[in-house]
Amino acid sequence: MLEGTLTTAEALTEPRGGSDFFGATTRATRQGDDYVLNGQKRFIVGAEGADYFLVYARTGDKPRDISAFIVERSPQVVVQHVYGLMGTRGGGTGRVYFRDARVPAENLIGRENGAGEIFNQMMIPERMTSAAGALGLARAAIEIAARYADRRRAFGQKIREFEGVSFQIAESMTRLDAAGALVRETARAIDAGDDPGRVRRLVSESKKCATTMAWDVVNAAMQVMGGIGYTNVYPIERLLRDARLMMIWTGTNEIMNLVIQHEYYKELLGTRSTARDVEMDAVNAETEGEKVYE
Ligand SMILES: Cc1cc2nc3c(=O)[nH]c(=O)nc-3n(C[C@H](O)[C@H](O)[C@H](O)COP(=O)(O)OP(=O)(O)OC[C@H]3O[C@@H](n4cnc5c(N)ncnc54)[C@H](O)[C@@H]3O)c2cc1C
Repeated sequence: MLEGTLTTAEALTEPRGGSDFFGATTRATRQGDDYVLNGQKRFIVGAEGADYFLVYARTGDKPRDISAFIVERSPQVVVQHVYGLMGTRGGGTGRVYFRDARVPAENLIGRENGAGEIFNQMMIPERMTSAAGALGLARAAIEIAARYADRRRAFGQKIREFEGVSFQIAESMTRLDAAGALVRETARAIDAGDDPGRVRRLVSESKKCATTMAWDVVNAAMQVMGGIGYTNVYPIERLLRDARLMMIWTGTNEIMNLVIQHEYYKELLGTRSTARDVEMDAVNAETEGEKVYE
């Protein structure tokens, strides 16, 4: 694999849904020294040519009884449909069927029913790749649009001299730098082995913030370029198609919101702050009778 002669794919999402990780229905049943896998996964990048799949499958009846396996391609592992996609078309994204696919027990990763821990660990690099990738994509789009605006003329002047154009560049750069700062702060927190809950929140914020920023920035770049931005003379239209996926995969941005608020509430309500209680700064803060919650 390290020589680059074998390729892999990660198979998590199922036709019944990708957001609900613990709702997986692909099943792995222990038979002697093997597990036998049955079920299907969809939207799997690299499925078309993968030699090995990382597969999450149900191994028990409790809701969190999911295990992770390395599954070798075999006649029982069938890629039957490769999707026509709006963007990111080079990935060979397919639907994978497991039909009595036999997997040696030694291919179980970690412990049986322990895939939740592996999933949580995997999602850190996966979501950070989406976040960091979005920064690069947005930067490329801004640079193309800003250079274009410096050369393209309308009404006798460079279009960058119109506030309506240059402020779009300014807004885009501000959002790019803000997202970049968050992604780098998150990377530092991961490297420093920060509290897992804080890391989960920061990773989700980075993924959401950077991918939403990239979509808006590429869209602004297309607007700055006018009609030619919509053609394939420039790569802006491709960047726009690619950027759209980033808000969906590696956990949708709604799922990122779910994680962010969950971890924030845990942090907020789980600790008693020793800092000054700003709520008590209000002039009538002592009016307890007006603080009605039910
Ligand atoms: C091109 C492409 C490549 C992909 N690559 C891979 C891959 O390599 N491996 C892999 O395993 N998966 C892959 N995916 C799958 C991707 O991660 C899922 O599509 C994504 O997680 C969403 O799952 P879903 O499509 O089943 O949508 P659903 O889970 O059905 O969600 C539909 C909508 O409901 C919303 N929603 C669901 N639950 C909640 C909730 N609790 N709160 C608020 N909103 C909610 C979602 O945000 C979304 O808007 C890929 C997808 C695409 C399109």
